[in-house]
Amino acid sequence: MKEFPVILYGGDYNPDQWPEEIWLEDMRLFKKAGINTVTLPVFSWAKLQPDEETYNFDWLDKIMNLLAENNLHVCLATSTAAQPAWMSRKYPEILPTDIQGRKRTHGARVNFCPNSKVYRHFSVKLATKLAERYKDHPSLLVWHIGNEYGGNYCYCENCAREFRLWAKKRYGSIEEVNKRWNMSFWGHTLYDWDDIVPPSYLNEMFKDTWDGYPRDSTCFQGIALDYNRFMSDSILECYLGEYRAIRAITPDIQITTNMMGTFKPLDYFKWAEHIDIISWDNYPSANDHMSNIALRHDLMRGLKAGKPFMLMEQTPSQQNWQPFNSLKRPGVMALWSYQALAHGADTVLFFQLRRSFGACEKYHGAVIEHAGHENTRVFRECAKLGEELKKLGNSILGSRLKAKAAIMFDWDNWWAIEFSSGPSIHLRYVEQIEKYYRAFYNLNIPVDIVRPDSDLSDYSLVVAPVLYMVKPNVANNIENFVSKGGCFVATFFTGLVDENDLVTLGGYPGELREVLGIWVEETDALYPEIKNSIVMEKEFGSLSGKYKCGLLCDLLHLETAKALAVYEKDFYAGMPVLTENSFGKGKAYYIASDPEESFIGGFIEHLCSERDISSPIKVPEGVEVTQRYKDHRVYTFILNHNDYAVEITMNDKQYKNMLTGTGVGHRLELKGKEAVVLEK
Ligand SMILES: [Zn+2]
Repeated sequence: MKEFPVILYGGDYNPDQWPEEIWLEDMRLFKKAGINTVTLPVFSWAKLQPDEETYNFDWLDKIMNLLAENNLHVCLATSTAAQPAWMSRKYPEILPTDIQGRKRTHGARVNFCPNSKVYRHFSVKLATKLAERYKDHPSLLVWHIGNEYGGNYCYCENCAREFRLWAKKRYGSIEEVNKRWNMSFWGHTLYDWDDIVPPSYLNEMFKDTWDGYPRDSTCFQGIALDYNRFMSDSILECYLGEYRAIRAITPDIQITTNMMGTFKPLDYFKWAEHIDIISWDNYPSANDHMSNIALRHDLMRGLKAGKPFMLMEQTPSQQNWQPFNSLKRPGVMALWSYQALAHGADTVLFFQLRRSFGACEKYHGAVIEHAGHENTRVFRECAKLGEELKKLGNSILGSRLKAKAAIMFDWDNWWAIEFSSGPSIHLRYVEQIEKYYRAFYNLNIPVDIVRPDSDLSDYSLVVAPVLYMVKPNVANNIENFVSKGGCFVATFFTGLVDENDLVTLGGYPGELREVLGIWVEETDALYPEIKNSIVMEKEFGSLSGKYKCGLLCDLLHLETAKALAVYEKDFYAGMPVLTENSFGKGKAYYIASDPEESFIGGFIEHLCSERDISSPIKVPEGVEVTQRYKDHRVYTFILNHNDYAVEITMNDKQYKNMLTGTGVGHRLELKGKEAVVLEK
């Protein structure tokens, strides 16, 4: 596979929106900004194929050659995220039907039925033609299929037919489907494959709007869950059609498609098996906690078990699609770019290089603003970062983080929890992941995000927030891990159901009952204003006294576990809320409610310190530290997210500051929003 020669720096470029004289000015400005890579043509299908028989690559040849003359690498996109108007007109079957049963009309983007044979035929044909034409082009470095797949769950007749085939392949018989979806409930028994219809607002699905948090709910979790799986698979097939065509023609060029972090509609772990290098688009809100951004980088890195990924998109300044699109303050763009590198990215790419002048992205930031020249704050900051990245050369490329702690994440579990009717509409999976991740983040302890059936042998501490669904081989995997000496942490509402959202009978947490040494009899859901408390029986690290808890409270009984804390109030006062179970050589903990942040922080800190898991460097609050390793070298990233300067005492004087080329002494001072990369 062709590897990246340097940190890729640049991003999405839309020369098809501009006259050719602007292209030359762009080349000058790219050079001035230190840009070495452009991504194109992401949305040019209409230009590349003006009708069914005609393909026109002249303009793309011209721009590709110009890019090569200017020594720019190309992340070559297949342009298949928005089909041309003639295609929707001539083949209306390509247009999807939404969850409300409305047939959509042409427009927007990713507005096609994922099971449309017409879409698949034409998208694969275009990808093939692009691959044949540019396979030997000196600029071609990496492929970019489609764009931000996943907003097009479809409920059309065509998808209904394919869903029946999908279910047949998975379950074999209609009797088995009835069993897996528990169709004897409400007399939903299916007699024939044709009785299966996509779960939509016309039948099982409805919009739950309690408390201002609208979400898609369902009367039948089994079919709804499988429809998500089927849609994720169907959309993946669109990607795979193009992937196979390109792979056959350019076997040495890496292929990616840009993902979106904690994006619910697609099971990215499953997708990642078919992607050569993960790439993703990082668009946090200005007021997002830094740990939430770090978590998403780590999730993306975790999709391919730690392999470095591409930061495919971020804005140089502001977004356009959020409710309030604040500017990134001076220094923040560079700081957040270093954060991506710090968590395993090998690229820093923007959307977009030149700001478009019409339609919805005209107010989305760009390296080249509407002013059209280089005398802008944003351009200056981009050019400065470009200079700095040159100093890193190819040093960090391919280097990896090393984590002894992991957090389990699972899309099926996410879908199942939030399709669940009860116990609380406030239970949101990603929020729970974020809470536990933040405890590690605040301690600057590296964490891998892993799937529940991942090999856990590299870790000594694994946390599985709300592992509601226990899929095949997961309980074994956890038991193995703990019995060999691992420390496992589970939280409330865990182990209730199997992969079809059918309850494991005999007491929760079902298959995890033995390793956790408890059984849960009931789960109380608290109104948002109601709290209970966790009362520590004795000190546990820095934890002592009382901590607030809420949301859900499991009422549990000890089997082999012992109680470390009990509930303070209500009819279950005195019942265990925090338990510890010895299992083989390891320990398993259960947190039966949703505790305040200081409890989670103290709890994780103690488990880490017992296992000698610590931050490589002690830093003040608001400063992030990570390390990447390669060939006996260590690259340390220190990011000051504070607005003010900080001073750090270095325990080791062998560090060299890669951005200044100078040695680092006993004290390192970082200005507000400053990042450094150290080497030793
Ligand atoms: Zn469809």
